[in-house]
Amino acid sequence: MKCEELLASLNEYVDGDLDPGICSPFQEHLSGCNPCQIVVDNIRHTIKLFKAAEHYDLPTALHQQLSRVLRERWKAKNHEDRPLVEQAKAGDFAAMESLLMKYERQVFGVARRIVQQHQDAEEVTQQTFVSVIEHLGEFREESQFRTWLLRIATNHAVALLRKRAVRAGPSLDDHGPDDTYDEIPHPEYIAIWRETPEDIAMQHETRQHIDEALATLNEKYRVVFVLRDIEELSTRETAEILGLSQAAVKVRLLRARLMLRERLTRLFGDESTRVAPHSHGERPTAM
Ligand SMILES: [Zn+2]
Repeated sequence: MKCEELLASLNEYVDGDLDPGICSPFQEHLSGCNPCQIVVDNIRHTIKLFKAAEHYDLPTALHQQLSRVLRERWKAKNHEDRPLVEQAKAGDFAAMESLLMKYERQVFGVARRIVQQHQDAEEVTQQTFVSVIEHLGEFREESQFRTWLLRIATNHAVALLRKRAVRAGPSLDDHGPDDTYDEIPHPEYIAIWRETPEDIAMQHETRQHIDEALATLNEKYRVVFVLRDIEELSTRETAEILGLSQAAVKVRLLRARLMLRERLTRLFGDESTRVAPHSHGERPTAM
């Protein structure tokens, strides 16, 4: 196995999903290749850092407004969505509110990370809630309510980003290869991180660094990273939300992770441990 082949299976390895057929060549390569070992480690740290540092507080006014309703209406006895959806469809407003309150944080969190601005995220959250009320009748229950809700939120967030991009001038769309494993960005800055992601997450400037890192990603990669690695949705649910194939979600996630790893390792890597990447393709395979 060569470094670049390892790269293509990186996500599956990190997620514990590696095809048994390539498990041993993968591990064999990894144990003999220091740069690849560090890259794998960097990726794990990158994901952990985002999780450790991610906690957005709702804006006070929004939170107070929503939680007043929550306290009044939320009944702990009913945590299943399906009965609530049935009741809401039948015109029960309390059921509708319970459903929305249950996911308010997640909707706001997804919106916040995609649009990167508090105010815009509030707008997206409100648009999402309004859309749900207007379109609940069209909700087909073969899909989970949460999936449907997050699809609406994601669509509003992406629409707002595009509107913003139009206002800002030329289109930000890139025309590079998207959903194939060709030309996956190869790791360049490979170094062991100076501190653990948990320690970094405690530091004051961290939020800004990881916000900036996320902001540098093209929207289509950012959205996948937010849903998969921060919200911890499955590949299947993410694909359903975005209207993509699961294969496309996997490739986009790999790109997102590699791009974030690169940027964060430049910030948090220990220069003295930096190693050169292999010249890809030249390393003799161990097999
Ligand atoms: Zn390697």
